[in-house]
Formats: sequence, structure tokens, C-alpha cells
Amino acid sequence: MSRVNWCPGCATVIANEQVKDGTCERSGDPVVVKRMPEWAFRITRYSEELLRDLDKLTAWPDRVTSMQKNWIGKSEGTTIRSPSTAATRCSRSSRRVRTLSSA
Ligand SMILES: [Zn+2]
Repeated sequence: MSRVNWCPGCATVIANEQVKDGTCERSGDPVVVKRMPEWAFRITRYSEELLRDLDKLTAWPDRVTSMQKNWIGKSEGTTIRSPSTAATRCSRSSRRVRTLSSA
């Protein structure tokens, strides 16, 4: 069981970001904290697919798809080149460090 934000007006759970001063940003109803069973999905595993398919939702406002893209998050990673400090190496080497936005 997890603590969730419940909007009685929308009859759904809403994200923390959708709660403005204790009310639902959509309907304006006071948000109630409830305990409900909750499942977690490993979104990062599906981020490529989710981001790609968001482009198919042409009827969605850009504001909403942008918000979803930011929420899904994605990092292409970065390449960091640094000289090796290992004494056994006589030439400079590089390492590639892949960064991920979230676990
Ligand atoms: Zn609401």
C-alpha cells in the first residue's frame, strides 16, 4: 500500500506535480491522501518506445507531450575522455561513461 494523491472530482490518482496548493490542477477539487495498492513500472526500460510513440499522438497538445517527454526522461549518455593514470599504461586511453537519467 502506498500513499497516493486522490482527486475525488476526477476520480483518479494524480501525480505530486498535479497538486497545486492541496487542490487538483485540473478540476480544482481538494486532493485527499489515500492508501492504495500500487505497482511500479521500470519506465526507463521502455523509454525509447514511449518517446517514439508519443509522436504518434498527434491529437495531444504539444504542452502535454512535452511534459510527458520530460517525465519519461532520456539521456544519450556522454563520452568523457580522460588520460589514464594507470602506471602500466604507456599511452593515453579513454573511458566511455554512460549516464542514465534515472534507474
Ligand atoms: Zn481533479
